[in-house]
Amino acid sequence: MTELAALLTAARRVVAFTGAGVSTESGVPDFRSPGGVWTRYDPRDFTFGKYVSDPDVRRRAWAMRREFWANDPQPNAAHRALVDLEQAGRMLGVVTQNIDGLHQAAGSKRVVEIHGTSREVMCIGEAPRLGTPDGCGWAGPTRWAFEAIDSGVEVPSCPGCGGIVKSATISFGQNLVPEVIGAATSMVAASDLLVAIGSSLQVYPAAGLPELAAAKGIPVIIVNDEPTPLDYLAEAVIRGRAGDVLPPAVEAAI
Ligand SMILES: [Zn+2]
Repeated sequence: MTELAALLTAARRVVAFTGAGVSTESGVPDFRSPGGVWTRYDPRDFTFGKYVSDPDVRRRAWAMRREFWANDPQPNAAHRALVDLEQAGRMLGVVTQNIDGLHQAAGSKRVVEIHGTSREVMCIGEAPRLGTPDGCGWAGPTRWAFEAIDSGVEVPSCPGCGGIVKSATISFGQNLVPEVIGAATSMVAASDLLVAIGSSLQVYPAAGLPELAAAKGIPVIIVNDEPTPLDYLAEAVIRGRAGDVLPPAVEAAI
């Protein structure tokens, strides 16, 4: 039995902390993926402030999102392994940096999305300031926005108040949602094993979650195809792709 399988076997309150590496095997482009959508769009062009102030940035952001989702990515073996672990009653849940909704699409029930979700859009108001949405409360599925775009609307606006509509994700320059970060922190603090998968662990506050676990004496396992700055605090570091590493370990553990 591998070290990961042994730790999973002993644990009863696993939290999986997942990053982009879990989704690349589903065809979701990572910032680093060569030839992908990110070679033609720079996410730093789509800061919250620019999105709010410049209709042309909104037009390009919608075109980018439409292209980003054109290949309809599906969950992969890593997502499914975490569903198996949850259904075996061994997980508290998933905390993810990903915005693609693939954990829920696979069947995971308890998922905290610290960077929001690209599956929904929301009204952020006419002129929200300081990186905080200030809309009328309207929200809808992203499909609604894509249907508008496909019918020739370049920049959809709120059907409730006419305000700016934005993906329900956290953009550069946009504040995280304190309640969501609180939920992620509570889940990690209550865990008995934190498995960080496919995250470079370089962006805070996300990278603070393994540090929190380690400070509480909760074992941390890091599964990533490259070294991370937090490898030193891990009980075990496994170099590899999530879809190769997780399924056999979960199968052995449940
Ligand atoms: Zn509105």
